[in-house]
Amino acid sequence: MTDSAILRVAVPSPLRRLFDYLWPADLGPLPAPGCRVLVPFGRRKVVGMVVEVTDHSDFHLSKLKPVTQLLDSQPLLPEPMLQLCKWAAGYYQHPIGDALGTALPALLRKGEAVPEQRHTYWQLTPHGKGLPASALARAPRQQQVLQHLQRYRTASRAAFQPLGITLTVLRQLEQKGLIEAVSTPLLQSSDPVELLSETPLPLYPQQQQALDAIELHNFHCYLLDGETGSGKTEVYLQAIEKVVRYGRQALVLIPEISLTPQTLSRFQARFNCSVVVLHSGLTDRERALGWNAARTGQAAIIIGTRSAIFTPLHKPGLLIVDEEHDNSFKQQDGFRYSARDLAVIRASREEIPLILGSATPSLESLHNCQQQRYTRLILSQRPGSAQQPHWQTVDIRQHRLSAGYSRELIEAIQQQLNEGNQVLVFLNRRGFAPTLSCHQCGWIANCYRCEARLTVHRHINRLLCHHCEYQQAVPNSCPECHSAQLQCIGQGTERSEETLEALFPQYPVIRVDRDTTRRKQAMQAMVDRVNGGEPCILIGTQMLAKGHHFPNVTLVAILDADGGLFSADFRAPEKMGQLITQVAGRAGRGDKPGTVILQSHHCDHPLIASLVQQDYRSFSDMLLAERHLAQLPPFRHMALLRAEAADGQAAAEFLQYARQCAEQLLPASPDTGYLGPLPAAMEKRNGRFRHQLSITCRERPRLQQLMSPLSVMLEQSPLGAKVRWSVDIDPQDMT
Ligand code: ADP
Ligand code: ZN
Ligand code: ZN
Repeated sequence: MTDSAILRVAVPSPLRRLFDYLWPADLGPLPAPGCRVLVPFGRRKVVGMVVEVTDHSDFHLSKLKPVTQLLDSQPLLPEPMLQLCKWAAGYYQHPIGDALGTALPALLRKGEAVPEQRHTYWQLTPHGKGLPASALARAPRQQQVLQHLQRYRTASRAAFQPLGITLTVLRQLEQKGLIEAVSTPLLQSSDPVELLSETPLPLYPQQQQALDAIELHNFHCYLLDGETGSGKTEVYLQAIEKVVRYGRQALVLIPEISLTPQTLSRFQARFNCSVVVLHSGLTDRERALGWNAARTGQAAIIIGTRSAIFTPLHKPGLLIVDEEHDNSFKQQDGFRYSARDLAVIRASREEIPLILGSATPSLESLHNCQQQRYTRLILSQRPGSAQQPHWQTVDIRQHRLSAGYSRELIEAIQQQLNEGNQVLVFLNRRGFAPTLSCHQCGWIANCYRCEARLTVHRHINRLLCHHCEYQQAVPNSCPECHSAQLQCIGQGTERSEETLEALFPQYPVIRVDRDTTRRKQAMQAMVDRVNGGEPCILIGTQMLAKGHHFPNVTLVAILDADGGLFSADFRAPEKMGQLITQVAGRAGRGDKPGTVILQSHHCDHPLIASLVQQDYRSFSDMLLAERHLAQLPPFRHMALLRAEAADGQAAAEFLQYARQCAEQLLPASPDTGYLGPLPAAMEKRNGRFRHQLSITCRERPRLQQLMSPLSVMLEQSPLGAKVRWSVDIDPQDMT
């Protein structure tokens, strides 16, 4: 059918398609793509977004419903963002409505109007201006306002606060018709002379070379590969400065804002222009305001976590992904996008540069450098007097450990504390002990919903499952044999804290993990305490590996380096090496040299040896060679189909069907491999049995050509209705 205006609208629905609606002429001229509309959907009215305007529908016009209401007169999402969302929905095989929902702040998703940041101030009315300064003598507060405004002409509410003038006083004057409130849109402060509020550091030669290499006027990816503390942030700051000076905006993605308050304050300290931070602690309104400031160009610099990749920019100039190897850039459920990978797509479409920064780059990015798709910029020094730490291993195969600590390690800690230094102990397991077991019969406390052990948390005296919500009180006796001889086996941070307090009673022990940092500001309080400089011991999980700068830490101890060596997840060794290198990088960032002590049962394992004797670069080269041999990503492109159900058989059958469909579309060959369905590494989680099927292709487009029709087939399969299933493109977590 033709001659009617039809809108193709993305609505919040699990279906992977757009929906057609009629545009009633009485609603005015046709809206542009990117505008929100209210449309009937099933029995409800939902907020959707116009994606296409057309005159054709595959359905008969009499079947189409009209749009109820237009919510925006101007597109909310500019064309490039709309295209990016469409691309991402297609690439990640995710419903377009939900993908677009991710791109909008919650407030706007709900259909509310875009809030406007306004500047509100008070001024005298003509009547007020006519009064002498001595008027209102019987109301001294009101007189004070009068005199203030006669002198300064305008003043905001905030300016009156320090004078002790309340809103009530202002309202009284307003009622008398003497003053009035005026509200104007917030203007951009764009005076380039005042862009900086501190002088940039003079760059050392490698930093300068890196900065000079970054071409600001076209698309290219740069991997800023610089050890922790080598001055990557300074390079970002100076690249941003250049971009902002020619009137463009910079978008910076960082892994987790609460863990990196220092990075944030460095951006705020450097620039006078408006820096918008998008993080989970904001209210819906604040988030929408920040988002809109980016969209309209009021904000020159936007810093955010994963979902900030979808922030529209008025004049994009530069994208930065700091700690590009970090897992948090990949969403692990729902819309399983990688913000880092989308940054590459976005930068190429907007024709702007992208800087990926890391001390421990992902194998994907290193591979892209080897293929000469990215330019690798290396910073191999630390500025000033800070030195790379010295590494040492302790082979713990033959040793008697006291609660996880070798004698060598205890002595080394003692020595550093005696010298007035600080020590950081890394143990990537929170809780008291990972296992509770019966000494008599060997019973082990397992989660009944997961194929996992329960972790002992002593301060709350409970057993918690770290994979589901299950928890219970710690039993007094064995549920099998009733013996009272229950033992905590293994080490968690809580237990290690206790051990350290017993070993070094005269020094404070500060534990940093998810349990101790739940409270807002708790992390900052700990960082401040450590930076106070007193000798102390920090014990914590990977939270300590991120972004912090502890100048007085001279010893970093890694209690157990073996976790990632023998895992079912092919990415586990890469992650282990990144974590160890990142934690080690916390040592010796100040004037004093640092030492790293690594305890392992496998000191001669080639991966451990290359980390300790050489560095992350040789370690990652070795891993890349292994991936090449095994034909795993980044040498192949992977999609992982997951299915889970209370009935494990149903999950496996669904994936078996998926494999049949897939093999019909694209038969197995040297270029295309199928593996599975197989039980997941953790076969049972939260009461459901989990299976997976992995598909790997040599060519990315091949995989895409397969996944789109396959997803549609699976969506329509009745088998799929019985299980919970998902498609994960470029999966990061294989467990
Ligand atoms: P990274 O981001 O690589 O971890 P930073 O940019 O945080 O490194 O730099 C580490 C420390 O070195 C910071 O305290 C920073 O102020 C300082 N620094 C960075 N560049 C220089 C420089 N060119 N001259 C002096 N100090 C610098
Ligand atoms: Zn027992
Ligand atoms: Zn569980």
